[in-house]
Amino acid sequence: LPALPSDAPVGRLGDTLFSPYAGGTRFEQLPVSKKTKDALRQCKYVEMTDIQRASLPHALCGRDILGAAKTGSGKTLAFVIPLVEKLYRERWGPQDGVGSIIISPTREIADQTFDVLKLVGRHHNFSAGLLIGGRKVEEEKEHVNDLNILVCTPGRLLQHMDETPNFDCSQLQVLVLDEADRILDVGFKDTLNAIISQLPKKRQTFLFSATQTKSVKDLARLSLKDPEYLSVHEKA
Ligand code: ADP
Ligand code: MG
Repeated sequence: LPALPSDAPVGRLGDTLFSPYAGGTRFEQLPVSKKTKDALRQCKYVEMTDIQRASLPHALCGRDILGAAKTGSGKTLAFVIPLVEKLYRERWGPQDGVGSIIISPTREIADQTFDVLKLVGRHHNFSAGLLIGGRKVEEEKEHVNDLNILVCTPGRLLQHMDETPNFDCSQLQVLVLDEADRILDVGFKDTLNAIISQLPKKRQTFLFSATQTKSVKDLARLSLKDPEYLSVHEKA
């Protein structure tokens, strides 16, 4: 093993020496549920990418994450896995309502994220819904309170917050902003502020983007708690 910083958290999990710094490079070595491991294996995900290896151990410890890595580096699994594990550990059930919200800047990205969520969550008992524009909002309104995980665009999420009777996210455990640099952009500013003001502050938050978002204002607005900054760059 490479040398560890003296304050590195190291723990023995089964037979695997596990550490956020020197630990495994395979999903199999992560402290996640069998349901999640089985799904990852069935999807042929074996080796973690750099951003996954850097962020997953921290995210699985309950920390807030600010992650930056280029497009195509595997950021989706870096937030979908800890999100699913958090709800699983909290024994979230169909009756518990909205436990997690993933906000995506576009319908296409929301759609792709929803597919990954379905793969990783296939053995779990959560309900999930895709709430994006261009669909019949009235039908969504009848079901949205029965969903555990929402994958949505900012506009549609706010529409439900404003219009759907009894829409309740007061028990929210995990908030994800995917492509956070684009969501935090001026175009979505008012929408995002309105959304954030209605979410509970005690929660885990993951921000992922292709570029690092370190604006202090943005982070304060999002109530990030001492986030772990992880930036993975291409090797020169
Ligand atoms: P990003 O959000 O960083 O642009 P994605 O999460 O969309 O990247 O992943 C890009 C591609 O890489 C997807 O096709 C995904 O299935 C694949 N991928 C992600 N993680 C892994 C992994 N650990 N092993 C193999 N393929 C992966
Ligand atoms: Mg992505």
